[in-house]
Amino acid sequence: MSQPYHHYEVVSQLVEKAAAAMHLDPQVKELLREPVRTLTVSVPVKMDNGTVKVFQGFRCQHNDVLGPFKGGIRFHPEADEDEVKALAALMTYKCSVVGLPFGGAKGGVLCDPSELSTAELERLSRGFIRAIAPIIGPDRDIPAPDINTNAKTMGWFVDEYAQIQGAYRPGIVTGKPLALGGSKGRTEATGRGVMYVVREAARAFGLDLEGATVAIQGFGNVGSYTAKNLHDLGCKIIAIADIFGGVYNPDGIDPYPLKEYEQETRSVKGFSDTNPISNEELLALECDILIPAALGNQITKENAANVRSKWIVEAANGPTTPEADVILSQKGIFVVPDILANAGGVTASYFEWVQNNYNYYWPEEEIDNRLEQVMTQAFWEVYGAYKEKDITLRIAAYIVALGRLEEAMRARGWVV
Ligand code: GLU
Repeated sequence: MSQPYHHYEVVSQLVEKAAAAMHLDPQVKELLREPVRTLTVSVPVKMDNGTVKVFQGFRCQHNDVLGPFKGGIRFHPEADEDEVKALAALMTYKCSVVGLPFGGAKGGVLCDPSELSTAELERLSRGFIRAIAPIIGPDRDIPAPDINTNAKTMGWFVDEYAQIQGAYRPGIVTGKPLALGGSKGRTEATGRGVMYVVREAARAFGLDLEGATVAIQGFGNVGSYTAKNLHDLGCKIIAIADIFGGVYNPDGIDPYPLKEYEQETRSVKGFSDTNPISNEELLALECDILIPAALGNQITKENAANVRSKWIVEAANGPTTPEADVILSQKGIFVVPDILANAGGVTASYFEWVQNNYNYYWPEEEIDNRLEQVMTQAFWEVYGAYKEKDITLRIAAYIVALGRLEEAMRARGWVV
């Protein structure tokens, strides 16, 4: 393993850079320096073999000046407090950059879901919601899916919360199954949002997307819908990798049959008309757009020099380390940052929450039109900030986000 990585410190440094470039009021920076709170919980779970195992989990609420805290919950063996804090801060800036009335939060449970039965996962999910119930609520903090959690997990959350409250409150989490007040288009939304951002970036930077070559790391919810949407837009998906391995075909891979294959076999590995490719080879492929859509810290100082794509579009949260960012920018590789690129998920979560509050549900077309509008507008706002100053698109996104946070803090009287 390489050096320990200080996730929260990395986000703080980005804020520092953006703050300097925009002359942010130092009081605003001070108010954003540490999360409002982080709750650490121990969740006892009865395992199928009759023993009890205690799992550790966290819910970090970073900042709520713009509205209730919002952010996913991930189940992962490497989830830790520092990472959850950083991801919560990213949510503050993500919600702000796309103009949502939400603050930022994140949750993490230290576990390896591949080693748990469905029944154990259900007991763990319910136990975690019970443990964080005192600090969440439909107008306080609204969880959602993240790595290794999905609509099914959200169904357990909503049911457990209803039992605690003695009242059914669908707006307590987003990313729910449709039958429980989920929104049409929510599952697809992060990948769809990535596509809208790519489409606008192509307009801004003059890239012809017809036949543009794309390599994607990750084929879960985000990676697979990103692949399908970009394929539909005319891009050529030449490589896709998951945790078990990758596939490559310079003539293009159709992500639709690939997803069916992956669902049957649990991996993209061995899909017809493709050659195997390793994760490192995928990251170093010559292509137009490289899309990390899996875990954080994938493009690092060790491999950034090998990247040969024209663009990187961060569908994952925090896939590029700061050292790698410097190398990429020296190489002239243009990076569309996570807080903008993957904001489609939380945007559709916002629509879901609005529908829950109304108790009235929109057709898919309406969700998609609104998503397109939000993502397009956010891209051009960030692009405007980027054009104005000699900065990266990442810092431009932080400038837009911090500007909104500053305005809200002033309006609420948090700063004078
Ligand atoms: N986990 C997703 C993210 O990182 C979605 C969060 C949400 O919908 O609240 O943006």
